[in-house]
Amino acid sequence: MSEQIYIGVDLGGTSIKTGICDQNGQLLKVIETPTQTELGTDAVLNNIAASTRLIIKESPYSWDQVQGIGAGVPGFMDFEEGFMHLSPNLPLTNVPMKKILEEKLGKTVVINNDANVAALGEAWSGAGKGVNILVCYTLGTGVGGGIVIHGKILQGSSGMGGELGHMAIVPDLEATQCGCGQMGCLETVSSATGIIRMAKDAVERGDRTMLVDVVSITAKDVFDAAKAGDETANRIVKRAAYYLGKSIATLAVTVNPDRFVLGGGVSNAGDLILNPVREVFQKFTPAKAQENVDIVIAKLGNNAGVIGAAGLCLR
Ligand code: ZN
Repeated sequence: MSEQIYIGVDLGGTSIKTGICDQNGQLLKVIETPTQTELGTDAVLNNIAASTRLIIKESPYSWDQVQGIGAGVPGFMDFEEGFMHLSPNLPLTNVPMKKILEEKLGKTVVINNDANVAALGEAWSGAGKGVNILVCYTLGTGVGGGIVIHGKILQGSSGMGGELGHMAIVPDLEATQCGCGQMGCLETVSSATGIIRMAKDAVERGDRTMLVDVVSITAKDVFDAAKAGDETANRIVKRAAYYLGKSIATLAVTVNPDRFVLGGGVSNAGDLILNPVREVFQKFTPAKAQENVDIVIAKLGNNAGVIGAAGLCLR
């Protein structure tokens, strides 16, 4: 086999997911190995390098076929330099990650933010395939985002392009503090964490809901209760969807993309979240900015990160 292949690494706090993609963004093989953050910076970097060697060893491909290695990393970094400033759950503070990995591997290494990378994955071979301008939300513990324009991630002047979770969208009187320090970010209401917080608040207030019987509420519990007709749960889901829809309406007249993709754990709620989001979008967006625009659920699931990371090498 002589085809060109690309390795993508999705670096998480507990595991390193490593995949091989072909030049069309098809995932050929994927493995998971432990990150071992407790062992420190060197161990984590060695584990990343080892995972890329291991996946090739376990595949029918050779190291010579590898055109580049991309890594999606949570945190703040200088993309061009591949320098990690800070990562919330990883020992990667002030680490020249690209340089160290390139020395270890002898291949070009490109790093980027995990949410940008997931967006790139969806743009390359997922729900945004063939789309010129794509906005992708990752609705998980937080709200990540990525904007991909003609195959390129919009990084912005200081790397904050596409940080959709930190749009200050909740009115002051209702705003709660976000992990970023600001008040009323989208992430405070439309992430799994935000949904859980609203559910706990409702239970504490004594609102009538079947969630009072749940010991440790998850976002899925809230969605299940909403599906079962629980009014309080439905109100919470509607609120999460409302601000998400409003942020989409705002982006529709700023970025004016062809498609919005919703990924991450919260998007598993499917139509329950998608339908109210579409309603809000239609209500608050000028008709012209709605033309040929659709809002869909992501396709690649947990593999978006590893595929997008591999895609970094092509750009
Ligand atoms: Zn924030």
